[in-house]
Amino acid sequence: MVKTAEVVIIGGGIAGAAVAYNLAKLGLRDVVLVEKDFLAAGSTGRCGGGMRQQWSTRTNILLAKHSIEAFRNFKEEFGQDIHFREGGYLLVAYTDAMVSEFRTNIALQNSLGVNTRLITPDEVKKISPILDTRNLLAASFGPTDGVANPFLAVKGYADRARDMGVRIFTRTEVTGFKTNGSRVKAVATTAGEISTRWVVCAAGAWSGLIGKMLGIDIPVVPYRHQIMVTEPLEVVHPCMVIDLYHNIYFSQAEVGSFISGQTDKDEPPSFNTRNNSKFLVEISRKLVYHAPVLRNVRVIRQWAGLYEVTPDAQPIIGRVPKFENFLLATGFSGHGFMLAPAVGLLIAEDIIYGKPRLLPIDEMSIGRFKKGEITREKNVV
Ligand code: FAD
Repeated sequence: MVKTAEVVIIGGGIAGAAVAYNLAKLGLRDVVLVEKDFLAAGSTGRCGGGMRQQWSTRTNILLAKHSIEAFRNFKEEFGQDIHFREGGYLLVAYTDAMVSEFRTNIALQNSLGVNTRLITPDEVKKISPILDTRNLLAASFGPTDGVANPFLAVKGYADRARDMGVRIFTRTEVTGFKTNGSRVKAVATTAGEISTRWVVCAAGAWSGLIGKMLGIDIPVVPYRHQIMVTEPLEVVHPCMVIDLYHNIYFSQAEVGSFISGQTDKDEPPSFNTRNNSKFLVEISRKLVYHAPVLRNVRVIRQWAGLYEVTPDAQPIIGRVPKFENFLLATGFSGHGFMLAPAVGLLIAEDIIYGKPRLLPIDEMSIGRFKKGEITREKNVV
């Protein structure tokens, strides 16, 4: 283990990997990333890989827009195919209130250069003929939303970061910190102590525990989120469907399997990542409600991971008031894969230039919770 580094990044998921790569790309190469397990062992390796720009807040839309552009160009920049596919996202509306909300969101998305539109149930049926649209009032459609492989994306970031000099230590857990007034001086790990000028917390659902080590309240709470995978079928369904009303999303993968997921709204927060059968029963019913043709399809896999949820379901990005050299890239509330390219760049810019340049992210600061200045992201499933 090294004894010093300009920057120590905690967490080897998509956020930590993206920060590491962007720091090195902007010229800061004395960077160490420590991961308690293996790369993508946390939420990233369990995620669905979906990405969309159909959000209700300005900053989320812009973060996603930039990030999807980065994923689209990933192969060119990194030489790594991440199986990026632009099949679009359909957000389905079952009430007048949802239709009206979608209209407002679409106006905001369009004003920020995102090509989304409200479509009729007939148009939904044309996009995916297997969908039962009888109870549907409308849908918000984003043709440039899509999906990519999270393992390959982490690999792409980590490989290029290593090529530029970043050192990555897996099976290395952060256990504490040394501080001096308003600065974090050193990071204690299971492999030794690293003196450093900057620390980035990209510890996902575990970020609250990192905060405790420093006496900072980082309001990130872990919730179990489960996914079900069916046997492969002929590919007929091109897009991701998000149903906020019934609490389900589903898509069909390149290999033909249907993948669907949900968080159990009645379940309290925990670090539990075991599967359960209640989820299987509920999600199967919902999937068949949307696509009756799937009634007799076999289930082949199921897994669970953690959503890292904040009080307003928006990420926490940037510096903390208590320590001037400690930054957060966390709290993505179940949509961190799709935002990571932008977040990685913003954190790197903050460290190198003293300020993020890509876009203003004041509303993502941790200070918003104390000030009570929060706007809840509504499009979360
Ligand atoms: P993580 O990937 O969790 O990485 C944090 C890392 O920190 C972990 O590897 C952990 O081991 C490490 N760590 C923690 N504590 C320490 C310590 N003390 N010392 C060293 N290392 C430590 N998002 C999307 O955008 N699209 C989706 O389709 C999507 N689907 C999802 C489906 C499921 C089932 C789940 C669970 C999540 C999904 N998400 C999705 C959310 C997404 O996975 C997360 O928001 C994203 O992966 C967060 O990345 P991260 O790097 O911040 O966290």
